[in-house]
Amino acid sequence: VCPTAALTEVNHTRKVWEALHHPDKYVIVQAAPAIRVALGELFGMEAGTIVTGKLAAALRKLGFDQVCDTEFGADVTIMEEAKELIHRLENGGRLPMLTSCCPAWVSFIEHQFPELVDVPSTCKSPHIMFGTLAKTYLAEKLGIDPKNIVVVSVMPCVAKKAEAARTELSIDDQDNVDVVITTRELGDMLKEAGIDFDKLADEEFDRPLGESTGAATIFGTTGGVIEAAMRTAYEWITGKELEKVEFHQLRGMEGLREATVPLDGQQIKIGIAHGLGNARQLLEDIRSGKSQYHAIEIMACPGGCIGGGGQPYHYGNDEIVKKRQQAIYKEDERKTIRKSHLNSEVIKLYEEYLGEPYGELAHKLLHTSFTPKERI
Ligand code: SF4
Repeated sequence: VCPTAALTEVNHTRKVWEALHHPDKYVIVQAAPAIRVALGELFGMEAGTIVTGKLAAALRKLGFDQVCDTEFGADVTIMEEAKELIHRLENGGRLPMLTSCCPAWVSFIEHQFPELVDVPSTCKSPHIMFGTLAKTYLAEKLGIDPKNIVVVSVMPCVAKKAEAARTELSIDDQDNVDVVITTRELGDMLKEAGIDFDKLADEEFDRPLGESTGAATIFGTTGGVIEAAMRTAYEWITGKELEKVEFHQLRGMEGLREATVPLDGQQIKIGIAHGLGNARQLLEDIRSGKSQYHAIEIMACPGGCIGGGGQPYHYGNDEIVKKRQQAIYKEDERKTIRKSHLNSEVIKLYEEYLGEPYGELAHKLLHTSFTPKERI
């Protein structure tokens, strides 16, 4: 069975066209970090070309009412996940805490290690958090009935389609994300609409759910989620400014990596795995009580989402995935704000609506639980 569900891929572009042509629907689109370093390949550009501005312009040309960024959801994820890690460290909680934003990996642990389902972070993934906030916070701001809002996610990932259908992620029996299309499906839509992608002038994402930091960008590659979490956890734990934001010890392409991050006298031990065979090794150590880590990031796809099953085919050419990874780090460097907790729209979201990170409303809207499932 393909862990990322790529073998059972169903095309959902028709659903998006129907929503866009529906007179009563307000259609909001979000695009994941990994899309902006790969979409250009479908239009003859070099692997690793950054097309963030063209992506925003192209989505607007397709007719979406709001063109937003999953990276906003990634910054919110860090607010919740960093707080959850600190809470577990300070209160004798379950360690190591595992990242939970990859649905193929979540499905893997539910089926293969059902006795460990209390180990992952309870955070929903960034695009699901985004969908929840679009249908609550943004709907209220815009004065639109959430029933008339359609949220479309453009993802590098086929497993995100199944994730969006998980009933435990819905709020008040309403899906947070209505349709998921992959990078390749977006490419098909742009071609069908006759949009000259490479000739588009750069545009910006719409605010408020379009502002993001470099920390959110690096979610697109292996090691990025835990690095983003460390940038915020460091400042929250130490109360000091983190001047050098890059944690090079967390980066790389080896399938299994480990690093120690000093945090105010504590040594935080971190494990990173990409590819489910590598994840299995870390999980077996947790099961047998041998794991020494405080936090572990796991991504099912080699390279993380940049190498996802919905991206332009790279036919096993690792050089293409490496170029996408370099582009992700370049995009992070380009950002003025590189720590999630400094995203001004995220700060406003908590001040105006959510209250405290990891607080009561944040828990209700942005967290979930995982269920042991039959072994397959
Ligand atoms: Fe999807 Fe990313 Fe997980 Fe691959 S690593 S299955 S693209 S979330």
